Amino acid sequence: MSSVPLAIRKDTEKVDAVVVGLGPAGATAIRLLGEAGLRVVGLDRAVFPRPKVCGGGLSSRATAFLPKGWDKIPHTVSTGVHLVYGVQPPVLFDVGVPIAYQFDRRDLDAFLVESARLAGGEIIQGTSIRSLEWKDGIFHLTSDSERSYESRFLIGADGVTSSVLRFLLNSDMENHDEGEQIARNLIRMYPASEMEVVNHLSPRLTDVLIDLSAVPGGYGWSFPKTDGKKNVGVVGFVTPLKRPMETLLSFVKTFQKDGGQSVQASRPATWLIPDYSRSKVHGKLPGLFLVGDAGAMVDPFLGEGIYYAMLSAARAVSDILLHSKSPEKASQSYAQWVFHKVFREFSYAQKLASVTYRFPGVYFRLVQKYPHVLSLYASVMTGKSDYRSFTRVIGKNLFKLPFRKVLIKFRHNRLL
Ligand SMILES: Cc1cc2nc3c(=O)[nH]c(=O)nc-3n(C[C@H](O)[C@H](O)[C@H](O)COP(=O)(O)OP(=O)(O)OC[C@H]3O[C@@H](n4cnc5c(N)ncnc54)[C@H](O)[C@@H]3O)c2cc1C
Repeated sequence: MSSVPLAIRKDTEKVDAVVVGLGPAGATAIRLLGEAGLRVVGLDRAVFPRPKVCGGGLSSRATAFLPKGWDKIPHTVSTGVHLVYGVQPPVLFDVGVPIAYQFDRRDLDAFLVESARLAGGEIIQGTSIRSLEWKDGIFHLTSDSERSYESRFLIGADGVTSSVLRFLLNSDMENHDEGEQIARNLIRMYPASEMEVVNHLSPRLTDVLIDLSAVPGGYGWSFPKTDGKKNVGVVGFVTPLKRPMETLLSFVKTFQKDGGQSVQASRPATWLIPDYSRSKVHGKLPGLFLVGDAGAMVDPFLGEGIYYAMLSAARAVSDILLHSKSPEKASQSYAQWVFHKVFREFSYAQKLASVTYRFPGVYFRLVQKYPHVLSLYASVMTGKSDYRSFTRVIGKNLFKLPFRKVLIKFRHNRLL
């Protein structure tokens, strides 16, 4: 993909904002900008409905960002979490109110794109970026389909391998290889794998299951889907998975060990989750907003990204509307929010991850003894609490545990 000269083209459209990528982040940004009466164009290299490697789980707090009519999309609702560790009896916590909703990303994303179009956004599908440059305070973008746009605001919502980021760094660098190198290092990633199975042995059809023994340094999940299917996946947050696909397939086998049968309902697939702690991409250019995975907005404890994709899109739009005359102020305000609010919260989530996934046996003992700890998952997912409070409660309760006994048990558990 080469860069074209910056000569003003006759067919260049001037718009208020350009959005690249139409996943939950991009589609939400377009819808909100459109509702505010701005002229916005959004493009995606895929044609919707398109598949996306993802568990498709949304915490209930995320539904506040969904446009009207979302409840008509096929989905399942969970009110509880099953925590599993090896052969020990699972700990169940059920709050009796919805904490998570599970969707097929094909349906959810297509619905969000259609809502963006209905709000007045110009949607272009099946088109990638051919060139992108920033000059004299204006972004110049040409698409594969030879359409060109100019705007003072650009929202990069094109996922974890963001081309927006690569193009802008490359155009900023005299040496393109150096730009590419920096782009690669700005966001580090965790590989994660998932697939759908039809499973005949389940704790309860509507529960989310988290298995702490499935993955060293991470966890395995099972989310209930429609038609009796389950989305099963693995991710390593403390230790990134070296062979995610193998880890997934052996996790799926653990369901069979118990006498149940798991029949594959989709092909296993691997994709990447961004590591926020390596991300230094925000506030680099006036008028540039990196939202969702492109901005490394995934929490490093649960791996929740859809909520943060929509939250960051909403924040970017509100900064654009508030500072419409000053792209510099708008991007700086967004970057401050990312660093001081979102990444700060993620730093607590990461602390929690390092205790939980490094010492799963100790954590499991803690939850067995104080099952109310699991209610913290629910309060984070419903938006009533945050990872800061979660970390505090875990810290307090850990000290109450009889450590000698726990450590003996922990050593034993590691051998499972
Ligand atoms: C295995 C796995 C399981 C996960 N499970 C969950 C889960 O259960 N719940 C949860 O909340 N999060 C989950 N996540 C994270 C979640 O999938 C992401 O955080 C979320 O999709 C981010 O949304 P987004 O809009 O930023 O990016 P995406 O959804 O990735 O959308 C980016 C869009 O940009 C387009 N694009 C890319 N490059 C270009 C280009 N050059 N030009 C034009 N368009 C382009 C793509 O086609 C895509 O449509 C999971 C991730 C993985 C890998």
